[in-house]
Amino acid sequence: MRVLVIEDQLRFAQLLKDCLEQGGFVVDTVDSVAGFNAQAPAQDYDLFIVDLGLPDGDGLQAIRSYRDAGGTKPVIVVTARNMVNDLVNGLDCGADDFLTKPFHIEALKARIRAVLRRPQAIQKKEHCVGRLKLDQETGEIHFEDGNVALSPAERRLLAVLMRRAGSVVSKSLIDGQVNGSDRCCTPNAVEQLVSRLRKSLARAEVGVDVKTVRGIGYVLEERTH
Ligand code: CA
Repeated sequence: MRVLVIEDQLRFAQLLKDCLEQGGFVVDTVDSVAGFNAQAPAQDYDLFIVDLGLPDGDGLQAIRSYRDAGGTKPVIVVTARNMVNDLVNGLDCGADDFLTKPFHIEALKARIRAVLRRPQAIQKKEHCVGRLKLDQETGEIHFEDGNVALSPAERRLLAVLMRRAGSVVSKSLIDGQVNGSDRCCTPNAVEQLVSRLRKSLARAEVGVDVKTVRGIGYVLEERTH
């Protein structure tokens, strides 16, 4: 089991990492929303532990954008905030559980066991668009019996579009999901990446189109003809 901890108090983050690693988890840590946006798509995490007060934003933003991009893995919020509306906001943003600091590490471990037992955390989900199949567990994209030849950035882009197939995905969401903390390298980096993905998809003849929605973003559609 691989866990990503988002916590800007570095001593606390290290304590969590040590305790969870003793429990057999593989643990990575980041200390900002930007770090989360970059790291979350980079590994196949089973669980996220998210602090809310972060130097570059609110952990709730990170959770919401992860869910908006189709992320299904459990999220446990750990925070010093203990107001009811914080809890409600956290759950509304897509958190699965909530723990108020200070807490005992055994309480966190119990919450982790509980969320990992939930069916959505252990079901292997496959998501199909046209003749493409996205393995939600591994992030791999298959076409019939083979893989589609894509660069890592094209694969991340296609996964974002597949999870929201039929809906318009904004350029800024794509930028954050695909490029993470390296976002906005050049103003038209997303356009160039979409163009490369279109060529790769056309070569593989997978029966989907990436359509441009002017001024907003892109939508992945199954080809009907
Ligand atoms: Ca904090």
